[in-house]
Amino acid sequence: MAKHMEDHPEDHPKEFCGLFGVYGLKNPAATIYRGLFSLQHRGQEGAGIVVGDGTDVRSVRGLGLVSDVLNKQSWPQLTGHLGIGHVRYSTTGSTRIQNVQPIIVECADGVWCVAHNGNLVNAGPLRRMYQDSGAIFQTSTDSEILVHLLADPMYRRRPQRVARALAELKGAYCFLIMTKDCLMAARDPLGFRPLSIGKLGSAWVVASETCALQQTGATYVRDVEPGELVYFDETGMRSVMVGEGPAPKLAQCVFEMVYFARPDSTVFGHGVHAVRVKFGERLAEEFPVEADMVIPIPDSGSAAALGYSRRSGIPLDYGFIRNHYVGRTFIMPLQEDRVEGVDMKLTLLPEVVRGKRVVVVDDSIVRGTTARRRVERLREAGAKEIHMRISCPPIAHPCFYGIDFPTKDELIGGARTVEAIREYLGADSLGYLSLEGMMSPFKDQKGFCSACFTGKYPVDPTGMMGKHELEMTTPELQFLPPTAKVD
Ligand code: SF4
Repeated sequence: MAKHMEDHPEDHPKEFCGLFGVYGLKNPAATIYRGLFSLQHRGQEGAGIVVGDGTDVRSVRGLGLVSDVLNKQSWPQLTGHLGIGHVRYSTTGSTRIQNVQPIIVECADGVWCVAHNGNLVNAGPLRRMYQDSGAIFQTSTDSEILVHLLADPMYRRRPQRVARALAELKGAYCFLIMTKDCLMAARDPLGFRPLSIGKLGSAWVVASETCALQQTGATYVRDVEPGELVYFDETGMRSVMVGEGPAPKLAQCVFEMVYFARPDSTVFGHGVHAVRVKFGERLAEEFPVEADMVIPIPDSGSAAALGYSRRSGIPLDYGFIRNHYVGRTFIMPLQEDRVEGVDMKLTLLPEVVRGKRVVVVDDSIVRGTTARRRVERLREAGAKEIHMRISCPPIAHPCFYGIDFPTKDELIGGARTVEAIREYLGADSLGYLSLEGMMSPFKDQKGFCSACFTGKYPVDPTGMMGKHELEMTTPELQFLPPTAKVD
């Protein structure tokens, strides 16, 4: 079994990373802490803050949740007027302290701090090139390659050095980059991941999701555009384009809308909660059924269940209650604990479902093991009929752009037909939202990546390394087989 399968038995794709940056705020550590706290859903393996005062930078980084790593005792040391923070889930590199960001390095022209969300598909070859010429890497993440590009004299001595370095990178990225007196925010030309700019009094704020702006009291200004590099310094805000700027066809991650982003965020110009309600309404049109109640899998299926209920007229009820205090299953050391942990996360209310025909709405199915167990529990509790409705199409292909899905064979949507999945789950019926239905809330339907559903990859991932391959100490890196299609 692959390492990441052992680590992550839960039936959901894993979050990736969250970014939060500030320029022009006196002692910004508490604000960055609040921003990261509201982005905690994007990564729980590690957190870090670095703050600058124009001369020095100071940092706190560690493994664990934001509240474990950053506490009020550290804030007085984090003095300054600009800073960046990062919450991490590892999509490349293992869970170890060296891989926690922001990455901080001292180059020939001073300190550079880098925080990254996404996955770079050409990090392996670039890293090998630098290692062959004697460069030393401190982490096993793809993100560190940007630091080497920035330090490379070929870029260092030229105007628009950061934009030129970024133009070498392929794949998905949002970067926050900080020097001792300047904050920079960049988004890849296809716009895979969200990044928004806000204003907090006279200070500038940048965050992976708008929920973090709201929760720090900042007002949304605009998104960092695909292919844009924005500078914040004492002269204010200015921006340049990276390479040729935005790609003719964007590839914004539609899975942000399905599952990852918080419902109180506005992502790619769309309110996430409202989009999920629309997914549910459309699901009810595509897969109607006679039933007594609609129940969500909380919290991820809640908005779609509301939409399904509204459109079908079937009342919404809560058959499952979520325990928010159960620890993350993947940190439990024993397999038995993990299985129990999954079950403990949701409590079933037998009196609600007994003797009832229920429509169960969830956002997605990855391996199917957790969904199957939930159907079993509903049967044991006496549900008369169980109709599963999923607010996206079957996930059939891995993601190479920053989401930790398992391999195609491990994805139940990649290995089985819908009827075979229904049989495996033990449900009376199963309906997945169509691709067309999932895209229906968006005017520019071509501006999205949907490769995990279609297998059409907007950036060729051929040759991309697996999650742990930068750990290898031998010079020969292992590359994934060239099986991916390019759209
Ligand atoms: S493959 Fe799926 S999860 Fe990955 S970026 Fe594309 S839509 Fe998002």
